[in-house]
Amino acid sequence: MKKIAVIGAGTMGNGIAHTFAQTGYEVSLIDISQEQLDRAVATIGMNLDRMVAKERISLADKEATLKNIKVCTDMADGLKGADLAVEAATENTELKLKIFTQMDKLAPAGCILASNTSSISITKIASATARPEKVIGMHFMNPVPIMKLVEVIRGYATSQDVMDSIMELSRKIGKSPTEVNDYPGFIANRILMPMINEAIYSLYEGVAGVEEIDTVMKLGMAHPMGPLQLADFIGLDVCLSILNVLYEGFGNPKYAPCPLLVNMVMAGKKGAKTGEGFYVYTAGSKDLVISDGFKK
Ligand code: NAD
Repeated sequence: MKKIAVIGAGTMGNGIAHTFAQTGYEVSLIDISQEQLDRAVATIGMNLDRMVAKERISLADKEATLKNIKVCTDMADGLKGADLAVEAATENTELKLKIFTQMDKLAPAGCILASNTSSISITKIASATARPEKVIGMHFMNPVPIMKLVEVIRGYATSQDVMDSIMELSRKIGKSPTEVNDYPGFIANRILMPMINEAIYSLYEGVAGVEEIDTVMKLGMAHPMGPLQLADFIGLDVCLSILNVLYEGFGNPKYAPCPLLVNMVMAGKKGAKTGEGFYVYTAGSKDLVISDGFKK
């Protein structure tokens, strides 16, 4: 594989593009929004600067990485000559089905189509294409350049050859891939999201405040980040979508999203990316400040 197309230049798309480009792949980063593409390139530049400052890469590595990335708003253009296309657009089933139908029409016949979806069925996504054997889940973790795990999800029709090439490619880019079958939430989110939802329920029911809930999980369970801070970091809208997929996919009320999470997303408080969730985020500041609505 030489050329990788990444569709969606948000939180995950920029990290995926960064990781492939840094390991020498030619990357075309595609988004419907030029503003998102500009922001993605700026973020990748800043993250590379941080790596240079920590002496993990050289200045020449940074320049070579940036040179490997081309951005575009035209999917046909971006998919030209691609060996693999990784979709990392908004977590919405209808949107992903539409994008995969488009990718199938525009990508070269041999191109593998992967989705970075957190929870949507790979089998369903594959059914929107005429090449279901070449459709696979490649679930990276945030922040992609740092986190080692990739959940590699085998859809109902995914071929063994495609599984093998994606496992091998994941290792080549320095990740530790794990094979998972296609059931709602796969492994990572089937276990993580009920914990985050329970943390939000504990806040909603007044069992404890934001700081107390996160402190218990950080100091008591040795989690590097509390569940409420992690939810802000993932994006509260993303958490809500995943919980809905678990709830509908298993038909079990234990996955029903907490009404507080639903309200926060409706109010536009989606976490770090919108500047506010359980905490407030100010550019350039690393302080953890609790949102006014949750102050005691
Ligand atoms: P995001 O909201 O930050 O970015 C989504 C991007 O998709 C936006 O830039 C948007 O403009 C773009 N987009 C929307 N429609 C498009 C289209 N038709 N064509 C091209 N681009 C389009 O979302 P994100 O957090 O980066 O999540 C992306 C995917 O990764 C989701 O499926 C999500 O579930 C998954 N994921 C997220 C995380 C996380 O921590 N945020 C972790 C693992 C996986």
